Amino acid sequence: MSTTVLQRHLFGPGPCNPYPEATAALGLPLLGHLDPAFIARMDRVGDGLRTLWGTKNTRTLPLSATGSAGMEAAFVNTINPGDVAVIAINGLFGERMCEVASRVGAEVVRVDHEYGTPIDAERVAAAHPNPTVIAGVHAETSTGVVSDIAALGAIKGDALLIVDAVTSIGGMPVLADEWGIDIGYAGTQKCIGVAPGLAPFTISDRAFERRVQKPQSWYLDLGLLGGYATGASGGGRTYHHTAPVAMVTSLEAGIDRILAEGLDAVTTRHQEAGKLLQDGLEAMGLELFATEGYRLPQLTTVKVPEGTDSAKVRGYLLERFNIEIGGGVGQYANTVWRIGLMGPNANPTSVALILAALKEAIDKA
Ligand SMILES: *Cc1c(COP(=O)(O)O)cnc(C)c1O
Repeated sequence: MSTTVLQRHLFGPGPCNPYPEATAALGLPLLGHLDPAFIARMDRVGDGLRTLWGTKNTRTLPLSATGSAGMEAAFVNTINPGDVAVIAINGLFGERMCEVASRVGAEVVRVDHEYGTPIDAERVAAAHPNPTVIAGVHAETSTGVVSDIAALGAIKGDALLIVDAVTSIGGMPVLADEWGIDIGYAGTQKCIGVAPGLAPFTISDRAFERRVQKPQSWYLDLGLLGGYATGASGGGRTYHHTAPVAMVTSLEAGIDRILAEGLDAVTTRHQEAGKLLQDGLEAMGLELFATEGYRLPQLTTVKVPEGTDSAKVRGYLLERFNIEIGGGVGQYANTVWRIGLMGPNANPTSVALILAALKEAIDKA
């Protein structure tokens, strides 16, 4: 049996094309999950993630599941039935937070924002006098918008601040401690430039001390996970579940790649590529979707021109150029495209390729 190898240019909202170092690491020999060499690797990954998160939190680890599991872990460990969760919604992932929080019994207080606009911290503050948690998405991949998380940290009061940094981490600064993030979760397949499958996660001591004592999820119970990846429970490493050894090894390589380039340089590379793409799209006469001043460089949302069939253009890009871009979300499914420039794709060559291909696709599809 053979597998057809398709080499795509993944310019969608995720996964992106991984850094070559991360792909190569997937082919390394496996280690046992309790092998001292693997435990040392997990320690290195924890250190690297602390740097990416901008945190000193001991409990910083890659959860063994995708970004959405990070979201589940955040709520299942903080919400007892009836607790109030104030959730800022400005896209699909804020919506998903509401669903997850309500399933663990939260009284969800929604703060809805128009899609394409950033979170308004004052409206979030006014929504409830003493919530248990406040939650919001740093980089809304569904709309291409960045929100000011420090502003949420400033108004959180006694609440715990839960932040989705799935699309921001590894592409723009995330300063968990400085901004007052109590729980942050991310993914590997966006700007970290590693295949999907892990959820880089961080939780402050303050949040850990207040955690739910017997959360509904055994797998995502942070009280049990302490000894799995961080040794933070004391008494050394314990078996909780079998670590996804290959994925952790790949994540280590991805983090090493980012830190070797330097976080500032990586941020600048994403900013410059995003600006180049957004300027280029406007020069083609296209209109950007996200509010000016709050546009993510790593994920650009652009309106499908009047009279153009969105699906046909995307199909043309895939067939002729092996390029994947994303469609819009919800009511914008057919009227917005989402173009990612994440990780290794954040470079001028990729921008030139996508601009030229999109122009041809719009003309000919
Ligand atoms: C991709 C994404 C998620 C979900 O991550 P999965 O790895 O698909 O589970 C959550 N939040 C945001 C902002 C994302 O971009």
